[in-house]
Amino acid sequence: MRPEILFPLFAPVTVLKGIGPRVAKLVEKAAGPLVIDLLWHLPTGLIDRRATPSLANAVPGEIVTLKLTVAEHLPGASSRQPYRVRCFDGTGSIALVFFHVRGDWLMKLLPVGADRVVSGKIDEFNGFLQMNHPDYIAAPGEMELPVEPIYGLTAGLSLKLMRKAVDAALARVPALPEWQDPAIIRRDSYPPWRDALLARHQLAELSDLNPELPTRQRLAYDELLADQLALALIRAQMRQRPGRKILGHGDLQRQVLDALPFQLTGSQQSAIAEIQRDMASSDRMLRLLQGDVGSGKTVVALLAMLTALESGAQAVLMAPTEILARQHAGTLQRLLTPTGVKLALLTGRDKGKPRQAMLDGLAQGTIRLAVGTHALFQEDVAFHDLALAVIDEQHRFGVEQRVLLSSKGRGVDVLVMTATPIPRSLMLTSYGDLDASRLTEKPAGRQPIRTSVLPIDRLDETIAAIGRALESGQKIYWVCPLIEESETIDLAAVTARHAQLADLYPGRVGLLHGRMKPADRDRVMENFADGPLDLLVATTVIEVGVDVPSASIMVIEHAERFGLAQLHQLRGRIGRGSAASTCLLLYAGPLGETAKARLKIMRETEDGFRIAEEDLRLRGAGEVLGTRQSGMPAYRVADLPIDQPLLDQAHDEARLILMRDPELSSARGQALRVLLYLFQRDEAVRYLRSG
Ligand code: ADP
Ligand code: MG
Repeated sequence: MRPEILFPLFAPVTVLKGIGPRVAKLVEKAAGPLVIDLLWHLPTGLIDRRATPSLANAVPGEIVTLKLTVAEHLPGASSRQPYRVRCFDGTGSIALVFFHVRGDWLMKLLPVGADRVVSGKIDEFNGFLQMNHPDYIAAPGEMELPVEPIYGLTAGLSLKLMRKAVDAALARVPALPEWQDPAIIRRDSYPPWRDALLARHQLAELSDLNPELPTRQRLAYDELLADQLALALIRAQMRQRPGRKILGHGDLQRQVLDALPFQLTGSQQSAIAEIQRDMASSDRMLRLLQGDVGSGKTVVALLAMLTALESGAQAVLMAPTEILARQHAGTLQRLLTPTGVKLALLTGRDKGKPRQAMLDGLAQGTIRLAVGTHALFQEDVAFHDLALAVIDEQHRFGVEQRVLLSSKGRGVDVLVMTATPIPRSLMLTSYGDLDASRLTEKPAGRQPIRTSVLPIDRLDETIAAIGRALESGQKIYWVCPLIEESETIDLAAVTARHAQLADLYPGRVGLLHGRMKPADRDRVMENFADGPLDLLVATTVIEVGVDVPSASIMVIEHAERFGLAQLHQLRGRIGRGSAASTCLLLYAGPLGETAKARLKIMRETEDGFRIAEEDLRLRGAGEVLGTRQSGMPAYRVADLPIDQPLLDQAHDEARLILMRDPELSSARGQALRVLLYLFQRDEAVRYLRSG
């Protein structure tokens, strides 16, 4: 249970004084739904309202403070029209614009002929300067205008309102018990948590934003320690539950291997050996199988699952999406043909009797191998004897979910597969101390993918080239980006491109996007994999895992809008067969430096590990592990790779803490529990006996 002292911070923003439901919605959009989200919504800069440019020097779009003389009042012709007050200084004039206000109030505030200090955002409208609803209006010398922090906003939310919300949130911040080691506090001059937090919001000078100040270092270290402590607790918990020895007789494996049309690569062989060693030991396995798209993880996973089956137990494979689950089921079932093993598929779509039959099969052990989505670890799913859980594309699942799944059997071994090569420096944050096997070789017979970068003006040319490729029997993906902000417009773009191409090549062009019903999506995929469709216009729903080996061309429209990891994932959909493949990256200029660098890297290399390192360098870890793409919690304060030393320190300290006080029961241990709750690691605390 969350400690009471934190209750004020985990209340919804609507409890804040002066924040009504309308503003609360906007605040929620900009920062998050809870008071604590506002606290972590740290300023991105500073406005110095002390600076007072002349009108001639004021830059539209900026927040400025002006010394003005009031010239005349121009009330709107009707109450719907704005009320304008014209003012001037020695260098020019400006209109102060007010909506829905009473003239008598403005007359008092801005008497004609009076000098006033006015502060707010200056705009240009039809060639004239204006300022809508100034933030401050005062007589000269009446008040000292503040130096104010700038916060990330959203449309309709003014800085003034955001500040009001943040201030109200800060007023609720309690002093918390100290969880950091006194020796570290002394060495690094850390202020108490509350002081550090307040200082990050209450800025007086630009230098207060310096990330190297002990205030920020402290908050970043708190966050990283919470993170590492949570991972360490989860891991300790998993280790505590005894594992079991899973040994296969090898017959099923041999049948599958004998029927494979290829030889395993060296790294596939060593990955399987490592996995089998883990499974055979009495410790629980918690292993990451990292391999680029197309490196052949599926077969490795299958051999591991067969080991579990050979020992008489059950195995499951869990995929992040329905499409992927189906595809895995299909692939695995084909590979399993010589063994006669039947595989069950369980997704959220299964309801009623068929679902119940499946649950019975899993509970009684008549089903020994299952593939599915999250549906596999719903509460009512029980297993007869689950020995191995394989989780594909795990970065879309949380660490906690992984534990939940493994609680479905006694000492379940867990193999996590990811196609996102994670830079070594980030392994700690995303996976804690997981053991890792890496597939570094490409399967034999693969040809490199030729990647070209083209401006969108060459669209017609591209479409003509696509036509020729279709003539010669190639299969093609055409990807259009989705940007979250306006899904409808994006969807319109995909649909329009589809319509255009379908017109040119009737009967051969399919459309795939996330708004379609799963059944429709599956049908389109099937028709593309082996049906009449040869050109698939899609959004990034095809990003993860989708496998159509005969596809050999990938067109990515607006490639400049995609991150490196995503481009790499998308490109990985081709080059899977023996035919030479081509990737066309179409961009709309002008390109920023980062976008340019990204496209250059894409042209230069197919090496996922190198791309991941570059991605980290270009974007920083917050983005690489960002919630939107990866499902990993993004950091609120910490910033990798800058904070790498703090992360390493937090990693070591978390282990030390748990060695000395495994149940966090000492006084400091209690404070550390507060820290875990503060950073919403509730799940981890639950593993403590007296949690
Ligand atoms: P991923 O790592 O992306 O999951 P897959 O397991 O889907 O990769 O494998 C991609 C393709 O490569 C599949 O068609 C698979 O049959 C094939 N493959 C896997 N291992 C080898 C190998 N050693 N040699 C040749 N082809 C292989
Ligand atoms: Mg895969």
